[in-house]
Amino acid sequence: MWTIKLLRFNQVPSDFHEPFIISGYRSCRSSISSCLVSAIQGSNETINFWTHFIPAMWFGWTTLQQVADGAFIQDPFSWPLICFLLSCVMYLFASAMAHLFNCISLPARYVTFFFDYGAISIYSFGSSIAYCAYTFPPELLHTPLHQVFLVMAMFTAMLSTFLACYSRFSSNHFLCHSGRLPAIMIPYFWCSLPLLYRVIFCVEPDPNSDAALFHVRQFFCTAVTVFFYASRFPEVLAPGIFDFIGHSHQLFHIGGAFSTYWQYHALLLDKAERRQFLVEAVGLPTVAGTAGAFVVVLTVNLLIIWGFSHWVSQPKSLEMVRQRLEEDKREKKGCGCKCD
Ligand SMILES: [Zn+2]
Repeated sequence: MWTIKLLRFNQVPSDFHEPFIISGYRSCRSSISSCLVSAIQGSNETINFWTHFIPAMWFGWTTLQQVADGAFIQDPFSWPLICFLLSCVMYLFASAMAHLFNCISLPARYVTFFFDYGAISIYSFGSSIAYCAYTFPPELLHTPLHQVFLVMAMFTAMLSTFLACYSRFSSNHFLCHSGRLPAIMIPYFWCSLPLLYRVIFCVEPDPNSDAALFHVRQFFCTAVTVFFYASRFPEVLAPGIFDFIGHSHQLFHIGGAFSTYWQYHALLLDKAERRQFLVEAVGLPTVAGTAGAFVVVLTVNLLIIWGFSHWVSQPKSLEMVRQRLEEDKREKKGCGCKCD
């Protein structure tokens, strides 16, 4: 009961294969209890789970501490930070759960990763709310970019969820070969635009502030993270060697968690140091521009996830998807593409 049998890639359906990972697979019909056991007994997903579950607990505890502080809740200038923290907890927790429970069945695999993609785009939107409130450079305030920033961030977050879910079924080579990266990068690129402008072109009002340094660390961590995700390094060089420890998805998770950690510290500093200037320039954040917008994006994302989950849970749809993926795989045999 307390041990699970681990399988090689040729003992599980191709839908469950991970590129260049040879062993350490769980059964594709695992029970909930064996999924829980796999969090302790090493499989090729165990470290994927812990590398996002531990940061999820840290951000959850940090959010509770902030919310428990009544003065923090009553201060509208703190609301964007709470939206950001909630989005961090959501994406880290959804990812951890997706890695733990994706082997229950094929529909469960799709559905858990739909939640993962939706939570990542909500995290991008949580970042946009906080960036809009705390990080905008003075040169860009009251410009058309500033005026449409949040509305466009809402749109890109919803588009990202749709494209990321759709990419699991797509026969488009770009979406398929690069995985979810293009879909995930759209809202990240949009929400980072003003901050990139500030880091590259603006002189900080306070030369002793570490905020810009933390923002740069965050960008550096994100770049490293994207490299691991896209390159499948190091397992691409030695398939089978990094199945349990050290494969690219684990490094992707660790880099992402550190990136979020630096982002949080940069936002804390910006919030404290730029408050007076920003409140005088644009006023206090509103309920509609923080919690209201967050709830709208969350609701639309849940509807998109529900739509894809409903579709993929139909036996006919699932069979159609499998046939199409098999056809694509046969067509691309020899080019090295692996569309998981
Ligand atoms: Zn992951």
